[in-house]
Amino acid sequence: MAEPRVQGWCPGALRPMQSGDGLLVRLRPRGGRILPDAAAGIARLAIAHGNGLLDLTSRANLQLRGVTDASYPLLMAGLQSLDLLDATAAGEARRNIVVSPFWSRSDGSQAIADALADALAGPDAPELPGKFGFAVDCGDVPVLNHISADIRLERGADGDLICRADGVTAGKRVTAESAVAAGLALAHWFLGSGGTTQGRGRMSLHLKNGPTLHPSYLEAPAQPTAIASPKPGPAAAGFLVGLEFGQMRAETFAALSRLGTLRATPWRMLLIEDASVAPELAGLITSRDDPLLRVIACTGSPDCLQAARPTRKLARSLAPYVPDGAVLHVAGCRKGCAHPASATVTLTAGLDGFDLIREGSANDAPTRVRIAPEFLLAHPETLIETT
Ligand code: SF4
Repeated sequence: MAEPRVQGWCPGALRPMQSGDGLLVRLRPRGGRILPDAAAGIARLAIAHGNGLLDLTSRANLQLRGVTDASYPLLMAGLQSLDLLDATAAGEARRNIVVSPFWSRSDGSQAIADALADALAGPDAPELPGKFGFAVDCGDVPVLNHISADIRLERGADGDLICRADGVTAGKRVTAESAVAAGLALAHWFLGSGGTTQGRGRMSLHLKNGPTLHPSYLEAPAQPTAIASPKPGPAAAGFLVGLEFGQMRAETFAALSRLGTLRATPWRMLLIEDASVAPELAGLITSRDDPLLRVIACTGSPDCLQAARPTRKLARSLAPYVPDGAVLHVAGCRKGCAHPASATVTLTAGLDGFDLIREGSANDAPTRVRIAPEFLLAHPETLIETT
């Protein structure tokens, strides 16, 4: 199987990435929140200067697809007029913060996320690797434990806020006022203790390699479990709607913008703030039992240049055969970017077919190799066979 090219950085608005369908422009909504005027403006810009498709990423960011070299400057001008651009590409890249969409006005999440964003834009901010990120998860129970992040600001087992390094089960006790400083200090420790190699590195891998955290970062136990991925329906602070493979038409996003402020989630869903019923809009998943909620698939070919094969058509066809409670991940290559975590079954595309991995991620050792997609469609029971 060909090795995918590791970019080591994530696209932004100020630093777009070339993809198979044009430039990929990623927006990082501040606090994970998209106000109605901004959402309507983004939808307009996606139609005018992109291919009209929007992705919600696994870190709760929003991507415009199909932007061209000619339309990019016009898109930037439009985003600037909506006040959605950072001052510099470096500052934008550092502002890698996932916020729990279930934050409440009293739990401190928004103030912490805001202060963290400002600190990461400052001249003395740590020069962190492109994939390094923060999770702000200050509700009663953390919900982002399975979402990629290196430093977590969350509620510990005794109810206090803690600052936790990803990969350990305890953190430093902090307050809403001291959380950001503790997070930045931990980021500086990561850099100073050799957490990066050639500009890349992640916290949990670094900790596995031996360096020991200061004891103050191990004083307060974390809450042991995260909740499972939420489903569409009423939720804390609003109503969750799902998006097939995290993608929607800009017209759908424009229609959603008329329903209220939107909160981005890392689960291919948007939360409509203060809504209590399902919107009657095409292009959304509103049933908790929809089989499409059990499948995850990245862009695949031809729109991702690294993909060995198309992914989504196969995932859509196999969705009805995925048992309730299981997850099928179809990855266009071993990077598995749509779902870096383990899935019940992962199909990783190669030039000779799909490798099948059980209870692992796209780069783990397969139990079966080079399966033709036609075979999987004719024998979907292959997914749940136990041998
Ligand atoms: S996992 Fe999918 S989207 Fe990511 S690089 Fe590979 S083919 Fe592209």
